[in-house]
Formats: sequence, C-alpha cells, structure tokens
Amino acid sequence: MPPQWIIEKKRDGAELGTEEIRAFIAGYTAGTIPDYQMSALAMAIYFNGMTPRETADLTVAMMESGKVIDPAQLPGAKVDKHSTGGIGDKISIPLAPLVASCGATVPMISGRGLGITGGTLDKLEAIPGYRTGLSESEFFQTLETCGCSMIGQTAEIAPADKKLYALRDVTATVPSIPLIVSSIMSKKMAEGIDALVLDVKCGSGAFMKSLEEARQLARALVDTGTAMGKKVIALITDMNQPLGRTVGNALEIKESLDILNGNGPEDSQGLTIELATRMLAVAEGLDLGGGVEAPALHLKNGAALATFRKMVACHGGDLAAKLPKAGNQIPLPAPKSGYLSKADAGAIGRAALLLGAGRAKTNDAIDPAVGLSNLRKIGEPIEEGEPLCIIHSNGHENETALFQTLKPAFEIASDPVEPPPLIMEEIK
Ligand code: URA
Repeated sequence: MPPQWIIEKKRDGAELGTEEIRAFIAGYTAGTIPDYQMSALAMAIYFNGMTPRETADLTVAMMESGKVIDPAQLPGAKVDKHSTGGIGDKISIPLAPLVASCGATVPMISGRGLGITGGTLDKLEAIPGYRTGLSESEFFQTLETCGCSMIGQTAEIAPADKKLYALRDVTATVPSIPLIVSSIMSKKMAEGIDALVLDVKCGSGAFMKSLEEARQLARALVDTGTAMGKKVIALITDMNQPLGRTVGNALEIKESLDILNGNGPEDSQGLTIELATRMLAVAEGLDLGGGVEAPALHLKNGAALATFRKMVACHGGDLAAKLPKAGNQIPLPAPKSGYLSKADAGAIGRAALLLGAGRAKTNDAIDPAVGLSNLRKIGEPIEEGEPLCIIHSNGHENETALFQTLKPAFEIASDPVEPPPLIMEEIK
C-alpha cells in the first residue's frame, strides 16, 4: 500500500493493520519513506491516537528495525527499570548494582539529556574514565562478571526510534502517548529482558504534570509490555520536588555512592529499595540465579557497593579518582523561618540547566561539576538564613537569571507541612 494511503487511513481515524505499520516503519528505517511522510503519520497519530494493539505493533516494528539483544547465555532473570525522567533522578545508578547483587541480570541501556538535567549516561560519565559506549562483547562480558552494565543506545538498537525521535522533536509530535510508549518500549524490549519496572514521574519536574496524564502513560506502557509477553509493572512517583538532595551529574554520583553505602537521603534511598524489591518480585517465577535477598540488606552489608565498584571498573571508570568539583559553593539562604512548603522541581531543574548541568540543545556540552546540593525537602523545618540549597557554580551562568529562577522555587509556610507521599500509585 502506498505510504499516503496509510497516512490517510490514520488521518481519518481508522485503525492501522499490523502489516501496514510494519511496512511503514521498515520503509522509514530504510529511507524509502521520507521524513515528510513519517511526519504526517506522526501528526495523524498525535491527533487520533492508537489502539493498544496498534501501539504494540508499532513498538515491535521499531524494536525489529534493529538488533534485539539475546542475553539467553546470561544467568538469572533479565530485568530492568525505566524512569520517564525527573530532576535529581539518579536511582538507576544504585539500583542496577543492587538488583544484580540480589541475583538478577540487569542489561540497562540508558539515555543522555532529559531535557533539563543530564541523563543517567551523563551522570556516569562524571566518574573519570567511565565508558558508556561498550562494544557488544564488552557489554556481555560486563553482564557476566557483574550482573549489570549501563550503556548508551548503540546505532544498532531501535534505529527507527533514533530517527523518529529526532523528527518528533522538530515536528511538535513528542507529547503523544502511543509515540512515547513505542519509543521507550522498543529500546527496552531490544535489551532482551524478561521483566520491566517503570517509574512514571508526575509533577512540575516531569513530562507528565498531572496524575491523570501519568496514569494514562503508565497504563499504556504496562499494556504494551504485557502484550509483548513481558512482565511489566509501573509506579507513579512524585516529581513536584527533586528526588534526593542533589541535582547535577557529579553531585548525583556522590549521592548514589551514599545510597550504596547504606546512607543517602530517605527518599532516594527508599525509592531505590522499593524499585529493587519490585524488580525482583516481577522477575519472580523466572530463574533468579543467585536467589532473592532483601535489597535493604545489600545496601547495608556492602554487597551492592561491591557490585557497583566491579561494574565501574569493567567500564574503565576510576572511583578512586576525585569527582569533578565546581569552583564556587554558594548557599541560598532561607528568607524566613518556618516549614518548607514548596521546592519546585521544574524551576530547580531550570536553575541546574542555567548552571550548565543539562543541555538546551542535543549537542550542548554539559559541565559535570555544577548543580545543587543540600536541597531541603518539603515538610522540613528551616530557620531564617539557613541554606535552602547550595549552588555549585563554575561562574558561567547568568547570575540574575539563576537567582530569578531559583528563589521563587522555594516557599516557606508558618505552620507545619505534611511531606507529600513519594509513591503515588502502582499500575499492574
Ligand atoms: N523517552 C523516550 O525514549 N522517548 C520518548 O518519546 C519520550 C521519552
């Protein structure tokens, strides 16, 4: 069928067939279907949506546009986590070694910039020497040695997504649930995993601002993964305030090490344990190799830290070397005493971007040292003049814009404030 007939069908609200979706994506990947026809189809999908079956077919077509890793040779259940991204979300870094130390295999393919702050790969690259671009044989060897490996999307993994994502970015078709779901799940399913736990972020620092939007995305992600024969669950978690107490690449590595040492902020350590428990639970019934141990114990007894150290060494990283440190540490004083009632994740993320911790455009360089630390959490009492956070700067930002963004991010109430729950819902 000519591509324009498929576009016309979706434009008019009809359901596309499996073969039509497969042929369109194959043609787009091969270059026989040009960007303008793919853009038109993406816009038709944006306006008319897709049924769960169409979304699953689109996901499979995008996954099959490239290589699907076959980790059958590896021991244990293959399980991963994906977060839709938020401010201070460093959880993948302690989580992958923690779950691996409990006996599962975690073949994690992560992303770079998340719009405002750096992505998992940017954070890992703050560790001197850490290589995110391993060859396939190095990736397998790391998985065999450590039970986990964290790399970037290679040219062979879901190339249709790579092309389509760049096109969506410039054709105003990013915020479409079927397109987001197929983009995320095609990459995750190409890892050859048995089970997946999704962390759908909800709030001012997330893609999905309202609980209703987050629910729709979580439901579509879970349904698509399940239709593809995988065990998938989702948590919807709060992203109205940053996760943990740091935002910025090296600062988040430091917090990840604190978590792996059995310390770390209550929320980021708690979410690491919650997600690990669920990853091991969804993998239940599959061969878990070394068996399931309580994740909290593995943070306390050093098992997860030992796995992380091994993984970093396999990636060429040097944890003994000093992490990058910014030239200036500037406290932001609280204007009055009371209880923190707001720490707006979106505004704090934009402040981190102004400091240079994230990218405004895909090719922008990031500064691994800059960001914010000692972030106070909603509900905490605070005295006038105490720091709301510490700004780590290398002096490259527009200072006026930084303070105009950061100061209104925080609000202080006179009466005690109940801290918001971190886990908002679980979708199975
Ligand atoms: N992350 C992805 O990988 N794809 C999207 O479309 C949105 C977020």
